[in-house]
Amino acid sequence: MRLREALAAGTRSFSFEFFPPRTEAGRRKMWDAVRRVESLTPTFVSVTYGAGGSSRDRTVELTKSIAADTTLRPVAHLTAVGHSVAELRRIIGQYADAGVRDVLVLRGDPPGDPQGPWVPHPEGFTYAHELVSLVRESGAFSVGVAAFPERHPRSTDWDTEIRHFVAKCRAGADYAVTQMFFHVEDYLRLRDRVTAAGCDIPIIPEIMPATDARQIRRFAELGNAAFPDELARRLDAVRDQPAEGHRIGVEHAIAMSERLLAEGAPGLHYITLNRSTAALDIHRAVMTAQGATV
Ligand code: FAD
Repeated sequence: MRLREALAAGTRSFSFEFFPPRTEAGRRKMWDAVRRVESLTPTFVSVTYGAGGSSRDRTVELTKSIAADTTLRPVAHLTAVGHSVAELRRIIGQYADAGVRDVLVLRGDPPGDPQGPWVPHPEGFTYAHELVSLVRESGAFSVGVAAFPERHPRSTDWDTEIRHFVAKCRAGADYAVTQMFFHVEDYLRLRDRVTAAGCDIPIIPEIMPATDARQIRRFAELGNAAFPDELARRLDAVRDQPAEGHRIGVEHAIAMSERLLAEGAPGLHYITLNRSTAALDIHRAVMTAQGATV
């Protein structure tokens, strides 16, 4: 069953996100995490797409290896940054040849300064919905898109944000995965707004284990996510005790995940940062609370 059909049938999706490592040591660590995740038979794993040429090649290679060498379903992230339409077609063709049938389509941010001016490739795309149409035209792919519980940093108001999100649905998106967030209400409000605009694709919340305040503050700033003061204070207080930071971050993510599922979220997408421990601790606790054996 393709991801599109599985989600449409109401399957609760549990997934894990990896990025293509730069070094041999990073590669070994990542594969160790991938194998641990594999033993839990998640719905899919996704591989992020970088801004530069070599990192992009590594995304394609890693996604193909996951398809060929594991029992996992890989979802390849793909951005429009710096690519002509012809190049995008070629990458989509490489995925099709490797049996990868799932793509998370993103506009991407300007390389170097993510908040800098967006300059489209002269023969490329300006917005994600254009790339959604291209991927859908290119074969029997399931297509995911990004959603932003606290609004995309460049959008001016909620009505515009939702109109642009709905354009991605109309172009053929099957589901969405959110940016990281730390307040469940933000997710619920986004979902209500999208539903009110007539779009009913599943929106899978992304879970970032916040075990290190400094690191998460940086990610949260980039992703426009409000990091709760109370959680930041608790993590700051145990800055030199990684095991305590882990416990606090995992506890917070478990509480958030359980509430999201209770509110009807169609699954959870865990950021791993290529380490599986925190994500797996959260997933196991959530599954156990749901009565599943893990
Ligand atoms: P779009 O939907 O195109 O939106 C971009 C901006 O343009 C928004 O402000 C939107 O409101 C506006 N807009 C859209 N359509 C129009 C229109 N017709 N007219 C005017 N304005 C419009 N980045 C990477 O580089 N690699 C990754 O692997 C990656 N993975 C991600 C995974 C997830 C789950 C998420 C949430 C984000 C990820 N990103 C990644 C970041 C993402 O590329 C950026 O956040 C990017 O700025 C937004 O991408 P988008 O696909 O939402 O763009």
